[in-house]
Amino acid sequence: MIFNCSNPLQNPKVEAPSWVPAYCLGLKGMAEAAFGKMGTDSLRITWAVFLLALVSASSCYSADVVFLRSSGSATAELEQLEIATNFYGLDLKVMMVSSSNDDLALDRAVEREDTVGVVIAGEALAHVNRDALLRALHHRRGSSPSLLILGVAPGEDPSLLRTWSGGTSLGCKRLESSLRPQYLFGRVDGLTWQLSDIEIPLPAGTASYLVPGETSAVQRLASIRHNDQVSPIFIEATVQQLKIFVACAVSSDGSVTGGEKLVSKFLRIAPAMMFIRYCAGERGWHALHHYANFTIDDPWLRQRYGYVDYKALFGEMEKHDFHTTIAFIPWNYDRSEPGVVSLFRDHPARFSIAIHGDNHDHKEFTDYRSKPLAAQTAALKQSLARMDRFQTLTGIPYDKVMIFPHSIAPEGTLEALKTYNYLATINSTNVPQDAVPPPASSFGLRPVTLSFADFPSVARYSVEAPIPKYFLAINQFLDNPLLFYAHSDFFEGGIDAFDGVADEVNNLEPDTRWRGLGDIVKHLYLVKRRDDSNYDVLAFSNSICLDNVSGRDSVFYVGKQELGHQTINSVTVDGRNYPYQLQEGYLNLSIPVPMGNTRCVAIQYENDLELASIGTSKDSSYVYFLRMASDFRDNYLSKSSAGLAIIRFYNGHEEGPALVFAWVFVFTVVCIYAAYRLWAFLWRTPHAPNKAGNPSLDGPSVGAGNKPGKTRERIQSRPSETSDSTR
Ligand SMILES: [Zn+2]
Repeated sequence: MIFNCSNPLQNPKVEAPSWVPAYCLGLKGMAEAAFGKMGTDSLRITWAVFLLALVSASSCYSADVVFLRSSGSATAELEQLEIATNFYGLDLKVMMVSSSNDDLALDRAVEREDTVGVVIAGEALAHVNRDALLRALHHRRGSSPSLLILGVAPGEDPSLLRTWSGGTSLGCKRLESSLRPQYLFGRVDGLTWQLSDIEIPLPAGTASYLVPGETSAVQRLASIRHNDQVSPIFIEATVQQLKIFVACAVSSDGSVTGGEKLVSKFLRIAPAMMFIRYCAGERGWHALHHYANFTIDDPWLRQRYGYVDYKALFGEMEKHDFHTTIAFIPWNYDRSEPGVVSLFRDHPARFSIAIHGDNHDHKEFTDYRSKPLAAQTAALKQSLARMDRFQTLTGIPYDKVMIFPHSIAPEGTLEALKTYNYLATINSTNVPQDAVPPPASSFGLRPVTLSFADFPSVARYSVEAPIPKYFLAINQFLDNPLLFYAHSDFFEGGIDAFDGVADEVNNLEPDTRWRGLGDIVKHLYLVKRRDDSNYDVLAFSNSICLDNVSGRDSVFYVGKQELGHQTINSVTVDGRNYPYQLQEGYLNLSIPVPMGNTRCVAIQYENDLELASIGTSKDSSYVYFLRMASDFRDNYLSKSSAGLAIIRFYNGHEEGPALVFAWVFVFTVVCIYAAYRLWAFLWRTPHAPNKAGNPSLDGPSVGAGNKPGKTRERIQSRPSETSDSTR
């Protein structure tokens, strides 16, 4: 038997959260501990070397999963386990098994207290001594690790699988043909969570299913609905008082329809993810709460802005429990109406403000040939100065979260955001416009990444296209915050337009906290329980608030990736300077947090920002006319079907502002001409009755009559691929 330690997706960036905290014992100490317990025989030396390698690549306080495979095969299963263990911060130990079993080595791997799960590749079943393994699992002190048989493929020996699964399964069959097959999650406590009873459409011909055995006492964790049948693909059975899970092999081309990258990626690894999450429990990376937010791009604070009636929206938020952030264009900083200002100030739990560009003059943060980095950096600084004025004038605080107009900026601009102590950027994609996604196959499972300029970039989802329930459920299962956005015309059919999404999110996860974007970014961290009952923390933001919900006083050992060139000006906890260490690309600090308390960490970088010296005046006539045109578009043009059609054509074709001006001009001329004809008609017929309800006198219609649902039909791409604000 050969031992091999896989190095799960060692992306040095944050997608590989098995970081190395400064509080680990040194390598030397660990090696000594490992060697000290062991004798001198070669197997034990192998173990010691193995442990040393393991320690060098992972956290000290970790749980392990042992994967048994035959030499050179089961690569798909290995990749699934690498992604899942990496996602949850567990270490994966790979053991090659051959016909000449080394039961002693297997016993030792299973008996280690850190081992929380054992996985056998379907093709390796014949090479593992079942009785010896089950005996070792039984003999383990404390709770036994669970066992997963992963990647059972069609054609494998039915009697072997029958024996291993306690008669619950006889093999695996490829689904030959089926109209509209569906992936169907079961409902099992502690395993399916938010995925319970969720159905997801699958492309035909890409799935396999398990052939049920004579013993039917199984829990179906996932099944496939094909034609009129529902067949299991992932089950849990109890064999000799042990939990044994069995999952079918996944076809490599098993992507779901459309561009739902997250969904298809997740379905390929769902059994591994469910199993690893189950085995890890609190010892795996997890969020303390679920978060969600709804953002409306572009409005300023006037009652009403386009179709946004703030007072009515507040009523909907109270009834359906959600929160609205306004992606606020800093240029509008001095235009707010007192009534709306009071509404925002009085209800910070329902309304908040984030930053949306500076002037919002079309692609304001575009490629550097069109607008150099220096000019973009100046705009980022001016937007802070204007928002500071906004706060002074209105008394409404704002979150230093940047939502770029049109599309996310190039990576260098994200670097500037970090330098100027912005908290995060949130856009329809988290990959800068001049970058490509990292190759790690786990990329995209979380909406936040620090892969670009070492700055938190977070993905959000348009609700102007329908968002499938399964997309929400998968994100909640993964502990991802759900960030939605829309524009004013989303409310064309009524101010209740978002209620359905809020209800769906709250039904799927009643513990969802709807918050402002700043609050959500301050909770962009994951925790996992250490062996000493304290917590490791993986932070994604330079400003986090640690909630101790553990029921006991705990120390939080925070690790925050710190790879940028910025100089750290200060690290504070609750406003006071606090000691920290920089080590191997991470900023580390340990913070005692009393039970039930919250302590907030803030990292500030050095920069040349002096808000008082930055001009906030609106001295560009081009920007002035563009903003006036936008107001006209949202407040007047959008109120007619023809106007909405123009807006949606503009949005759909990514045209420049010149075309908008042209359209507005044409529209205005047409309106003036129509008004003139109407006036002339009435002048010539002075005795004609002025009937109530005459459409020609009622002006542009607002509301239900104009609601053809075309916004939803127009956008074909799935939530993860919709574009940002095109206003
Ligand atoms: Zn916008």
